[in-house]
Amino acid sequence: MAAYVFGHTNPDSDSIVGAISLAYLKSQIGEECIPTRQGEISPETQFILNKFGYELPLLKTEYAGEDVYIVDYSDLAQAPKDILEANIKGIVDHHKLGDITTSAPLECWIRPVGSSNTVIKEMYDYYAVDIPKNIAGMMLCAILSDTVIYKSPTCTRNDTKACKELAEIAGIEDVKALGMEMFLVKSAVQGATPRELTTRDYKDFDMGGKKVGVGQLEVVDLSVFDNMKDDLFADLKALKDEGNRHTTMLLLTDIMEEGSQLLVVSDDDSLIERAFDVKLENSQVWLPKVLSRKKQVIPFVEKVFA
Ligand code: MG
Ligand code: MG
Ligand code: MG
Repeated sequence: MAAYVFGHTNPDSDSIVGAISLAYLKSQIGEECIPTRQGEISPETQFILNKFGYELPLLKTEYAGEDVYIVDYSDLAQAPKDILEANIKGIVDHHKLGDITTSAPLECWIRPVGSSNTVIKEMYDYYAVDIPKNIAGMMLCAILSDTVIYKSPTCTRNDTKACKELAEIAGIEDVKALGMEMFLVKSAVQGATPRELTTRDYKDFDMGGKKVGVGQLEVVDLSVFDNMKDDLFADLKALKDEGNRHTTMLLLTDIMEEGSQLLVVSDDDSLIERAFDVKLENSQVWLPKVLSRKKQVIPFVEKVFA
């Protein structure tokens, strides 16, 4: 029986490429695997698939009774609803340990690096498996995406080393130019609905029994949102109400200015103000140097909800 390999809900490039790259590696070492995805892909991921001529993984949201590997998360809130009825054979991730547990021993590759694809690159090295040129190019893009072209505080030497080696395999000379090309695609938000934008890179967290959702949009210039703020706020409010959430937030990250505008809709604004030691004005605040939701946002919000 083939195992399925997939990333989190609202899949980002690391989740989609990670499913592909891990499934390929596993298949090469004698374990047939099929990459899948839990949802629609972003324009950035579509750009990566087009650029390297790779097909979109199959959409699959139910896994009861299946063998699975999960990539880029270990939180139930980001998993298929029936994940605990699946046989989880392994986790490859670079986030804090989540609340998924298993009834059988499993393989775990979880490292504090910038991208799941960095961990997967190290797995290829461990098993001495050659990475096909197109998969190497996609893995490179996934790492550049997650590390915001090395600018994120989550970026480690393992990530830059992996990128250098992947670029060589893929025959890419100017890695940063490729990263900018990708982030320009990511910055094209015109024409997208508010819901597409708030949920494009969105994660729910359970914080002290309260549901908190945090989205993030990384762009090269925040002015693209100038005429959209009201619509984004309205949708954050709708998202909050629909999901019985305590708080919904959106990080508008300017990768050139290296900071984020945080939009907040919450039952208790003061909690968020305390988390970042700031005062919200019109339900928003500029957070200088904040690029990483995982490292610079979630831990601080979790602390005040605890
Ligand atoms: Mg991810
Ligand atoms: Mg990731
Ligand atoms: Mg990200």
